[in-house]
Amino acid sequence: MSREIADHLRYYAELGVTGLSRDAKWRARADAVPEVRLKADATGQSATESLDLIETEIGPACTRCKLCTLGRTQVVFGVGHPKARLMFVGEAPGEEEDERGEPFVGRSGQLLTKIIEAIGLSREQVYIANVIKCRPPNNRNPEPDEVAACEPYLFRQIDVINPTVIVPLGKFAAQCLLKTTDPITKLRGRRFDYRGTTLIPTFHPAYLLRNPSAKREVWDDMKLVRAILQGDA
Ligand code: SF4
Repeated sequence: MSREIADHLRYYAELGVTGLSRDAKWRARADAVPEVRLKADATGQSATESLDLIETEIGPACTRCKLCTLGRTQVVFGVGHPKARLMFVGEAPGEEEDERGEPFVGRSGQLLTKIIEAIGLSREQVYIANVIKCRPPNNRNPEPDEVAACEPYLFRQIDVINPTVIVPLGKFAAQCLLKTTDPITKLRGRRFDYRGTTLIPTFHPAYLLRNPSAKREVWDDMKLVRAILQGDA
């Protein structure tokens, strides 16, 4: 038990959180999050099948945009619980993600895992995907024709999973989902209605690795996410 507590304290420290609430009500709610999440499991089987259908339709060698000729190793579809109440959306696979076929598995992914665990959830309980499913060369920004070709699949994933909250990670994902050119500094800290869900943009974990002081703002965003999942906001 003491080891678990030490692990949690490390997560909080990693996120730049310097204080913990002594409020028993708050701690009881934090403990309740996984239970709230698991209530969605009854429809998980049909969602799994629907996600499998989308993945099959894209295919392992999709050629619907030019990224298929620009050095990608594989299509990186998405990972997580098929009826997750919380979904994260990033920009596109990076080098490690391209190699392993899973989103957010590099250093940024490890930090994202800590962020997820800091609000009492596990990676297996959320869903993680990208706007673009193939790695752009040299990690350049995805181009408009690539987004246009690939984003319909993300929208279909969202519609199947039907999460309560979507968190776009970073400027590109937030701008893409919201169809805006507003900077991430203007988009984060706010909540948006989006495809029947609540969308809470926050900074990309890669940005946090370069700018650790921004972890505090991400923690504020994640506290709001947790409150919404618990029906408190
Ligand atoms: S990025 Fe999307 S549309 Fe383009 S080749 Fe990959 S899976 Fe197909």
